[in-house]
Amino acid sequence: MSKKNNIQELIHLDKKHFIHPTSSIAQQQANGPSAIFTEGKGIYLKDIQGHSYIDGMSSLWNVNVGHGRKELAEAAKEQMEKLAFSSCFSTFSHEPAIRLATKIASLAPRELNAVFFTSGGSEANDTAFKLARHYWLLKGKPNRQKIISRTKSYHGVAMGATSATGLKPFRDFTNSLAPDFYYVDGSSIEELRNVIEQEGAETLAAFITEPIQGAGGVNFAPPGYMQEVRRICDQYGILLITDEVITGFGRTGTFFGIEHDGVIPDMMCFAKGVTSGYAQLGGVVLSETLHQELISLSRETLFHGYTYSGHPMACAVALKNIEIIETEKLVENAKLRGVDLLSGFQEIQSKRNIIGHVRALGLIGAIQIVKNRQTGERFQTPVAPLIVAEAMKQGLICRAVTFDQDTVVFAPPLIITKQEIAELIGRLDKAVAAVE
Ligand code: PLP
Repeated sequence: MSKKNNIQELIHLDKKHFIHPTSSIAQQQANGPSAIFTEGKGIYLKDIQGHSYIDGMSSLWNVNVGHGRKELAEAAKEQMEKLAFSSCFSTFSHEPAIRLATKIASLAPRELNAVFFTSGGSEANDTAFKLARHYWLLKGKPNRQKIISRTKSYHGVAMGATSATGLKPFRDFTNSLAPDFYYVDGSSIEELRNVIEQEGAETLAAFITEPIQGAGGVNFAPPGYMQEVRRICDQYGILLITDEVITGFGRTGTFFGIEHDGVIPDMMCFAKGVTSGYAQLGGVVLSETLHQELISLSRETLFHGYTYSGHPMACAVALKNIEIIETEKLVENAKLRGVDLLSGFQEIQSKRNIIGHVRALGLIGAIQIVKNRQTGERFQTPVAPLIVAEAMKQGLICRAVTFDQDTVVFAPPLIITKQEIAELIGRLDKAVAAVE
């Protein structure tokens, strides 16, 4: 089959048989896939037509060590040849899960010490909610079942994770969500306190927050917010869960995002960067206090576990991935290149009138699109998707966020060099210029 016919066939089969996650299925039916990727190397992805792109999103905020890392493929192969799968249910165990749990405990903020593995971020958050509710049952406080989260938050698509997600379209997708979820304005401590007072602390299990909101538009909490949240949770006896699915494993220039705030949660969820997307893995790290309390109160089976909790190959890949992050000093690189990314955004902002607020911390950042920079007035129809489409033509992948805003977000791989940041900024500038 000729190359052209092969592409045509793939487009046809994609439209006919493949339901894309988080997609417009009508648009997908009409247009087919916009790119069929075939290979990746470093910060670059290549599609089936041979076009090359800077992966300005690390794909889904996850390919932290970049594409095409042979060491990770070898770690997967070696583990699969030795022990492809064995269960971790009940008393069974294996070395990759034990070593990875130990490694993550050593990297996590002090106090966080015991790990429950899942296959991804949604399952990690569902696990944290269930453990929080189970903990309160064991403590003889069965009414403590409510979970509070923040508007514009994204916590995934499992039933509990969707229920906690503050971005309303995800919840509106179905009207059969988990009960007892409440939302507070993402920057208002006052509102958090009000909800606690209204609902009654004795009905609340946990509060969940991303250290920096990712899918909601790379939104930073006001200074001091996290410390105040920790104080309030302590005051009312509510467990604090941080969702580090995007911010973990170096993304923000520290190993975990919450380190910027110096706050220690009771549970911390992770996924994505733990394997840089080379295998499916997530999990929850519990504080030593919570872990010990669960041990002392628990009298029967912990009725919660996924077949792939602690998958040997995924754990082996995660261990090698963390070794790469450490030996190549990628956390430090994220911090340094984040400064370059922000100054690149500022440079574009100084030339282009439609760029409003720009922000970045480490290698997670965003530019706001405005009609009038002085007043902050927005375009009636969001312009960010046009910039993203134009960036694609320039060979740059980035993402538009249009929930309640008009923003383009970025999260390039942590291996990116100073020169590659300049290349990213150059392509972005051309895209903005073409749309302006
Ligand atoms: N939490 C956050 C902050 C996320 O960004 C995501 C995914 O983007 C999730 C949870 C869900 O993770 P997964 O898609 O692996 O289930």
